[in-house]
Formats: sequence, C-alpha cells, structure tokens
Amino acid sequence: MTGRAETAPTLGILGGGQLAQMLALAALPLGVRVTVLEPDAQAPARLCATHLPAPYTDPAGLDALAACDAVTLEFENVPVEALDALRGRVPVRPGAGVLARSKHRAREKETLRAAGVQTAPFVVLESGADLSGALARVGGQGLLKTSELGYDGKGQARVTSNDALQAAWDGVGRVPCVLEGLVPFEREVSLAVARTPDGQVAFGPLVENVHRNGILRTSVFPANVPDGTEARARDLARAVADAWGLEGLITLEFFVLPGGELVVNEVAPRVHNSGHLTQDGGGVSQFEAQVRAVLGLPLADWRPLHPCAMVNDVGAADPDATPDWASIDALPGTRVHRYHKARRPGRKVGHVNVVAPDPATLRERLAALEALIP
Ligand code: ADP
Ligand code: MG
Repeated sequence: MTGRAETAPTLGILGGGQLAQMLALAALPLGVRVTVLEPDAQAPARLCATHLPAPYTDPAGLDALAACDAVTLEFENVPVEALDALRGRVPVRPGAGVLARSKHRAREKETLRAAGVQTAPFVVLESGADLSGALARVGGQGLLKTSELGYDGKGQARVTSNDALQAAWDGVGRVPCVLEGLVPFEREVSLAVARTPDGQVAFGPLVENVHRNGILRTSVFPANVPDGTEARARDLARAVADAWGLEGLITLEFFVLPGGELVVNEVAPRVHNSGHLTQDGGGVSQFEAQVRAVLGLPLADWRPLHPCAMVNDVGAADPDATPDWASIDALPGTRVHRYHKARRPGRKVGHVNVVAPDPATLRERLAALEALIP
C-alpha cells in the first residue's frame, strides 16, 4: 500500500526570538511547518524554523508569509506596514485591532476600561501641559511609562514628586506616556486566553509571578490565591477577548489587591514569559495552544496537570555569574530551556522549569533551583 501524502499546515511568524523558537518547537509535532520573518541573522528561531533574514516590511519576506495558512507574531511592535501588506492575503492572528490596543499603553487602558475591566489609575501625558496636577490625580506617587515600546521594565520610572515627574519625562525624550498610580498589590498573577476563528474559547492556568528589577524572576502554578480568583480572572480574560474580537492568544497580567480584587496591569497579544512553565507541567503548552488557536485546530484548556514553576535565566552585571548547570540538572524535576542568545546584563537567555507532585515539594525544589541561578 502506498501512503497518501498529507499536506502540512504552515504558520508564518513575525519575529524570530525565543518565543518564535518555542512556538516552532511546539508546532513541529503537530505536523505544522513554521517560517519566521526576522532581520537578526542570529535570531533564536533560525535554528528550528525556515528563517527569512529580512526586515519586517520586506516585500519578498511578506510574500512568503502571505503564502502560509496563517500568520502570528511574537512581539507587539510589528510595523503597521507589515500588517497592511498582509491584509486580505492571509489571516493574521491576533489581528491589527488587538495589536493596536496592546502595543499602546494609553489606548490599552482606555479600551480595557471600556470593556468593564479595572486598571491602575492613570493620566495620559502627551504634552508638557498634561504634567500639571497629573501626580496628584494618581495618588501622589506613580510610575511613568512610555506609551509604546516598553518591556521588562524599560521605559519606566518611579516618581514621587512633580520635579521627579518632569525630570523623568524629559529623560524619556518627552514622548507620549502614561502616568500610573502605584497599585498596592499583594501578588501578581497572569492568565492567557485563546479564541479560535470559529469562536471556541480556552484558557491557560492562573500563574503567580515575582519580578526582580522590573524583569520576571519566577512563575508558579498553582497561584497562591483565594478560591474564585482563577474563575474571576477567566471572566475578565473572556470579556477582553470578546471586546477586542480576539482570534489567537493573548495573556493578561493582573495585580491582586489585598481584598482579592483583580486589576489588569497589561495585555500581551501572544504567549508570555509567565506561561513557559506549561512546557513541562504535563499538559499542552502555551506555545502549542497559540499554534492551535491561530490555525483553528481543536483546542482545550491548557492548564498544567502537575504543580510547576519557572525561573528565568537573565544575564547578570557580572558576566561570570552564570547558572550552576550541573547542580540544576541534578535537582529532581528540572528541565532546562536555553535560547542560544549571547549573555548580556538584563537579557533573558533561557529559563528552567521545575515540576513536583504537590505544591509543598514544588516550593522546596523552587527554592533550591533559585539558589543556583544568579
Ligand atoms: P513591562 O512591559 O516591562 O512588563 P509592566 O507595566 O508590566 O511593564 O511593569 C513591570 C512591573 O512593574 C509589573 O509587573 C509590576 O511588578 C511593576 N508595576 C508596573 N506598574 C505598576 C503599578 N501601576 N503599580 C505597582 N507596580 C507596578
Ligand atoms: Mg508586564
């Protein structure tokens, strides 16, 4: 008997960093081939996908993406021209509407509020005149964030006086910003939601996150929150998915207030660093979930089957301060994920996941793991 050739679905990705790398790694076992458009010749995804080394607006590169079954992205700052060039030729998921909201902090907060979702108090700063009285309106201390292009705490400054606000705004080049009131959160959590083109909705786990110097340090599942928090987070995520007409996957970052109330911090139009632990929690990973959602493949919730956690490997100021890999490998339940990126201060170069049969054992293993990663 001769086998019938099955055609492999193809997925195009704008961006070729570690998220694209891990999306491609998750796509392969599903029979899906991935092509990435990414100008950096050394980009992590080049190792496991067809790499088009060209600018995001390159016509030949965009033609190659347009020939795929669907296109997704691994970062929010995709140039509008690239989306315009793909419109009508191939589905881009999430689409331009979701991207326009999530890549601009002021617009994001305004549209979240319109969807009935609580955010930090904020004032939009577009000109010098907007600074007057702004700090008082958000409670006397706040975080100045550039409206666009911020990540891992970059483009942010904490301000507690009007003079400091003026200096911080001068410091970012007087570009459009939001000034946010400081939220007195008890914890930070995140949750992803995916919606297939035919309207099926599925959720990732509620994950608890700890940041260090504005960069994610650890994520833990399950989150240590009162009963009902995950259900409320799902309701809010669904409300945003519906209001924004989501096709694909988005991740919401939340602040948990002392009373248990949830405030949305920001929304990423993609898989998220806090979801990396799903790679080893025994279920479908967030990467497989995004691939499935974008291509319209069957998709169920991708909550892990076991307690699991993640520690990021972020380059330290001292280049010799590297993780103790041999000891990490010897710890039960760990799995190493490296991005094939040069180590630089503040740059994410990998992560380590750890699983355990119960939350108490997970906490012990996580503490041991953290001690091995500077
Ligand atoms: P990034 O795009 O860098 O992730 P975020 O807006 O998520 O930017 O800010 C990074 C971190 O800074 C948050 O996860 C949180 O720990 C802290 N943070 C941000 N905004 C506020 C706020 N309004 N109140 C208190 N902490 C905040
Ligand atoms: Mg964030």
